[in-house]
Amino acid sequence: MYQKRITILGSTGSIGTQALQVIRRLGYKLEALSANVSTDLAEKQAREFSPRFAVMMEPSAAADLKIRLADTNTQVLCGMEGLCQIASLPENDLVLNSVVGMIGLRPTLAAIEAGTDVALANKETLVAGGQLVMAAARRKKVKILPVDSEHSAIFQCLQGNSKKDALHKIILTASGGPFFGKKREELEQVTVDQALRHPNWVMGAKLTIDSSTLMNKGLEMIEASWLFQKPIDSIEVVVHRESVIHSMIEYVDGSCIAQLGTPDMQIPIQYAMTYPDRVPSQVKPLSLIDYGKLTFYPPDLRTFSCLRTCMDAARMGGLYPCAANAANEEAVALFRERKIRFLQIGELVEKAAFFQRMPLRYTLEDVFWAEEEARRFVRVQCGL
Ligand code: MG
Repeated sequence: MYQKRITILGSTGSIGTQALQVIRRLGYKLEALSANVSTDLAEKQAREFSPRFAVMMEPSAAADLKIRLADTNTQVLCGMEGLCQIASLPENDLVLNSVVGMIGLRPTLAAIEAGTDVALANKETLVAGGQLVMAAARRKKVKILPVDSEHSAIFQCLQGNSKKDALHKIILTASGGPFFGKKREELEQVTVDQALRHPNWVMGAKLTIDSSTLMNKGLEMIEASWLFQKPIDSIEVVVHRESVIHSMIEYVDGSCIAQLGTPDMQIPIQYAMTYPDRVPSQVKPLSLIDYGKLTFYPPDLRTFSCLRTCMDAARMGGLYPCAANAANEEAVALFRERKIRFLQIGELVEKAAFFQRMPLRYTLEDVFWAEEEARRFVRVQCGL
């Protein structure tokens, strides 16, 4: 079998480590990896998979890794420049982007410009710069393969259907997060530790907090809108506590197709890597009888205002979603530093998304301008 060559951006995170398990099992070749600051794990991964390049985002971590890997053939690079360099290696068959935050935008564009398919686990890339990413992908005839479980589900449901206008509606499922059923008043005192406890999925800290505010589902709606070329109002969110149905689509004839499975990211990660083929995985088989029943509820848009803000921002279009996302990145960081309260995240995201006029058509420079404006707005609002 052909040994696919894969570069992983964000190899020490939750998706990255699971992707390496898939690579190990399938016997693929790791071309390059990147990490933020986790030199211990990055060193271990580099020693096992012998990539040609390893990038550390932090200069001191890069210097450290360089010394540690001096006896190997792995070349150590640093920062955004290194990240874009490994994303655009001509040897790559696929770049898996699993970095956290809109910092993933530049390397996604770099991979596309190099003509390489991108397995996208970095939803902020499309939320912040969807117009640029999708236009570049069309121009370079590059595939964006979704890794997010919901988007992989929709992508899988669409296989075999060649007519784009046959898709009527997308139904994104949401676990509801750790605070499902709670009202605003009950969330006044939420601590960082409480927000970091997710019922069904083991994920990185930023994503877990985004799941607790439902910002994650809002970002996913915008991501789905770009990936599947549907307006935000054709996308519906249904809370489904068991996370067994990963999402569904409704065709114009009223037929609904859902993708189900044990909640395990190995399935969508592997499918993005092997697409259009399917190969065995080691995921626990789904037993519907063990579940007994599956439940569904409407989302509470009053309590979880982030979801509502994302819908509003997507309707406005242009860089409004980028502003909402950047404000959220800033607010979540402040919440994790215990500088703001849980409910302030949603309040800040809503204010920052609409505090000023945003361009509807934009360049990459405009994206970073909107990001900085939104981040600054959040800091000023918090007296920082
Ligand atoms: Mg998801």
